[in-house]
Amino acid sequence: MDCSYCARRAVYTARYNGRHYCAKHFSSFVEVRVKREIREQRILERGLTAVAVSGGKDSMTALHLLSTLASQRRMSVVALTVDEGIRGYRDASMRVVEQYCTERAIDWRHDSFASELKMTMDELSSLPRARTTCAYCGVVRRQLLNRLARDAGADRVATGLNLDDTAQSVLMNIARSDVARLGMMGPHHWVIDGLIPRVQPLRLIPESEVLLYATLNGIPFVRSSCPHSEEASRNLFREIVLRMEQEMPGARYSILKSASKMHVTATGPGAGRCERCGDVASGAVCRSCQLKDEIALLAARAS
Ligand code: SF4
Repeated sequence: MDCSYCARRAVYTARYNGRHYCAKHFSSFVEVRVKREIREQRILERGLTAVAVSGGKDSMTALHLLSTLASQRRMSVVALTVDEGIRGYRDASMRVVEQYCTERAIDWRHDSFASELKMTMDELSSLPRARTTCAYCGVVRRQLLNRLARDAGADRVATGLNLDDTAQSVLMNIARSDVARLGMMGPHHWVIDGLIPRVQPLRLIPESEVLLYATLNGIPFVRSSCPHSEEASRNLFREIVLRMEQEMPGARYSILKSASKMHVTATGPGAGRCERCGDVASGAVCRSCQLKDEIALLAARAS
């Protein structure tokens, strides 16, 4: 199969637009959309952009593209990583991030669950508990990332969320009738106390395209997945989104478009501050601080 734009062999076919891409035109296809998002979300316009980077394909691609574009504009980015303490997975991905940042002189800041909670996610996962490991992990990680970004003086945090991730989150929030969270989904065009705005340069790039882009462009990343990921409720929505896209190519884009329209009617931030950590909270204490209390209780019961 030939590329739709030149005589080279195609390495990828986008079912949602029916076009074939050689390696060169595929990379341009990805970069054009990412650059448009960077422009529309005003990611590299002023101030400091932090990139939340785990070492996986999505966040490493976001870091690679943002740091390259930033250096062309004589700007810099800061990379932030949270070590949840997941043996054989996060330790390996931390090494990838460290090496990449060292080679490119990128300021890399990190924090860990072990120092914050005095417990790793591996340890937590072995305790009897009502919630999944992921229910604690995602929320506490967000709080630590927020703190790292604040300490770095960042004006925004870019994440590697791709099109599939975003479509899944939209459906999850709708299925749970969580309109507040739907309204809080990035990219954020507003700034409120306690929340560094989240931006998402890869939000229009399907997961399979991020993987191919990273591979074709020699971006280092870890391929293993978290040993606790089977517990994630997101898995159901991953299957649903994949199935929808198979049956109706372009469904993921339609979900995003609908979410953008709903955003207009959602209440947006409108939240207060956590009396303990200062992050955004809908009550007196934020979700992360509540879960940290639960973790401390679980640890006390186990000792
Ligand atoms: Fe944390 Fe769950 Fe993600 Fe593993 S899969 S890193 S436990 S949120």
